[in-house]
Amino acid sequence: MTTMTTPQTSPAFSVCVYCGSKPGNKPEFAQIAVQVGTWIGTHGGQLVYGGGRNGLMGLVAEATMAAGGTVVGIIPTALVEKEWAHHGCTELHVVDTMHERKRLMADKADAFLALPGGIGTFEELFEVWTWRQLGYHDKPVGILNSLGYYDGLMGFIGQVVQDGFMADWQTELVTLGTEPEALLQALVQKAGFSPGAKVELL
Ligand code: AMP
Repeated sequence: MTTMTTPQTSPAFSVCVYCGSKPGNKPEFAQIAVQVGTWIGTHGGQLVYGGGRNGLMGLVAEATMAAGGTVVGIIPTALVEKEWAHHGCTELHVVDTMHERKRLMADKADAFLALPGGIGTFEELFEVWTWRQLGYHDKPVGILNSLGYYDGLMGFIGQVVQDGFMADWQTELVTLGTEPEALLQALVQKAGFSPGAKVELL
């Protein structure tokens, strides 16, 4: 099932954001999510995300819409209530399975960005990272390491390289950044798109 609100002009680019269905326990996490959504919206972009209203997911979506961006939410039927499906999205796709959700999210994005989150976020990040290394897609993948959230994970990945289970080129498939705006700009450009002229919010 798909619901749509008013038709939009074509977005300048489309970024799939993976992030926590919880807000985390530091207020800075919410600020990061809002910064990401605001950048997407003010640069004429489209957010693709899991379609929920909970946690950082809901904050990114709200901020994108508040800044004039397009929001495509994709949620499996089984999670419509649990993740409090966001019926205010520009497009809300209610799909049958998690696999369908992830496939549609990936298809509709020009680039992927992981913010702080839990195992759902990690699973989605690792999936697009592994798909990239296998050549299933060639879209840029980014990790927003604000507040050092992903330091531990990146340290572990370094150990994996040292232990010979990964090569440097595989780690280099991911763009790491600490500043939301700079990282989004880099990902959109790597994807071959130009962010729209920034619209100043009143
Ligand atoms: P979390 O980071 O655990 O808060 O989850 C963030 C999002 O990932 C939520 O929308 C979850 O529904 C989703 N998620 C949880 N498990 C999976 C999974 N196995 N595959 C894909 N997404 C998942």
